[in-house]
Order: sequence, then C-alpha cells, then structure tokens
Amino acid sequence: MIHFDNVTKLYPTQKRPALDGVSIDVDKGEFVFLVGPSGSGKSTFLRLVLKEEKPNSGHVHVAGKDLAKLSNWKVPHLRRRIGCVFQDFRLLPNKNVFENVAFALEVIGKPRRFIRKVVPEVVELVGLEGKAGRMPGELSGGEQQRVAIARAFVNRPQILLADEPTGNIDPATSIGIMKVLDRINRTGTTVVMATHDAAIVDSMRKRVIELEEGLVVRDQTRGVYGQAY
Ligand code: ADP
Ligand code: ADP
Repeated sequence: MIHFDNVTKLYPTQKRPALDGVSIDVDKGEFVFLVGPSGSGKSTFLRLVLKEEKPNSGHVHVAGKDLAKLSNWKVPHLRRRIGCVFQDFRLLPNKNVFENVAFALEVIGKPRRFIRKVVPEVVELVGLEGKAGRMPGELSGGEQQRVAIARAFVNRPQILLADEPTGNIDPATSIGIMKVLDRINRTGTTVVMATHDAAIVDSMRKRVIELEEGLVVRDQTRGVYGQAY
C-alpha cells in the first residue's frame, strides 16, 4: 500500500537529509507506528506519502501508483484515498460534530441523502453517538480528536495517516483514541501513526518503525518503544 524505495529527501535549506535512503513497505491493512525523536523524519515521511513533498532520489508508491508519475491534477484524487489526523484536531469551530464530518463529503460532491446516512454511522463508530449536535468548543480534547478521526474516515480512505494524534490528550483518554484507530484498522484500512507516546506504542504491540536522523534504525513486528526491545 505504501512502498518507499531508497528514498532521500533533502530540504534545500538543510545540510543533512530529512530522510536518507529509506526503504519501507507497508502492506494493505497493516497498523504501523512511526517513532523517533523530534526531527528524525516522521512528518517528512507522511508528507511524501501525500505528495506534499517530492523526494530528491528514490521512489514512492502509494496505493499502487508511482507518485513521480502522478500528474499534479491527480494529486487531489490520491489525497482522497488518504485520511489525515493531526495533533491539533483542526476542526471547523463554527460547525457542529455532524457538520464537521459531513463537510468532508460535501467538498467532494456527495449527495445529501448519502451524507445523512453515512455521517451518523461514522459518528457512532468513533463513539460519539448522541453528540452529533455539539460544537467543538463543547467537547473534551479526546472527543474532538474522535470527530477529527470520523472526518478523516468518513470517505473510507484506504490509508489513515495520524501525526501525533494523542499528543494533546491525557493518557487515559488516549487509550480510547487508540481503540478507535484499531477499530478503523480492523475494517481493512492501513494505519500509519507517527508518535512519541511510548506507553501507547507499548500497549498496542503493533509494527514499529523507528527513524533516527532520517535513517530507519529499527523495523519490528509487535514492537515496543524505547530501550526495552
Ligand atoms: P513554503 O513551501 O511555503 O516555502 P516551507 O517548505 O519553507 O514553506 O515550509 C513548509 C512548512 O515547514 C512551514 O510550516 C514551515 O514553517 C515549516 N518549516 C520550514 N522550515 C522548517 C524546519 N527547518 N524544520 C521544521 N519545519 C520547517
Ligand atoms: P519529525 O516529524 O520526526 O519531527 P521532520 O520530518 O519534521 O521530523 O523533520 C526532519 C528534518 O527535516 C528536521 O531536521 C527538520 O528541521 C527538517 N525539515 C522538516 N521540514 C522542513 C522544511 N519544510 N524545510 C526545511 N527543513 C525541514
């Protein structure tokens, strides 16, 4: 589903590459933690998957497509197949839960009756049944992240990318967020989550890919974070 072949990304202003000859394969339906210190290249990896950045050398394939051969007008189509979740939720503050999730479908022209059917299903999937009318400001951080996940998933993307999704959430609430991501993964969606959260990584026992200064220093099935491996 995601195939990096000897990918190097050097930002013009930097001396050292953000990614340095990285080769990674993520299969359909996998759940992968991308770990490593700040500046190790995790976000760059995610931006390359979205074709927000281009590699200086090497090849990136996503969902069977060589991104170097994907013309610019097809990039929005690629991004529709990839849901994104961020540390800071990025909800529309003046829209309620239903409207925030529905918006993702409105912008791609889905009919209103379809939206009315699928939005409540996804709101329930993330555990927010009964809260569809709430405004983001009336929700806890964990609940806001559930809305963001619902919005990322409502279009049934093949891939869900999450960049530090538990970074602004307390540990107890984070466990609930991980259950939601696990539920989404079990529908067949490939999940890649960049994180610093050792407790979460250790509790999930999923594949762990560790980056350090742009190099893959570990790729472990059912891995843990930190020094314990
Ligand atoms: P633009 O494409 O508008 O010229 P850049 O590529 O310079 O923007 O930056 C893209 C994003 O990355 C911006 O949010 C910018 O603040 C951030 N950024 C720029 N330089 C760095 C850096 N050295 N480390 C981390 N983030 C950076
Ligand atoms: P992480 O997500 O692991 O913190 P990043 O991929 O954001 O790592 O950053 C990797 C390296 O690339 C860092 O040295 C960072 O400063 C640099 N970097 C990231 N984005 C930019 C950018 N837009 N312009 C220049 N340098 C960047």
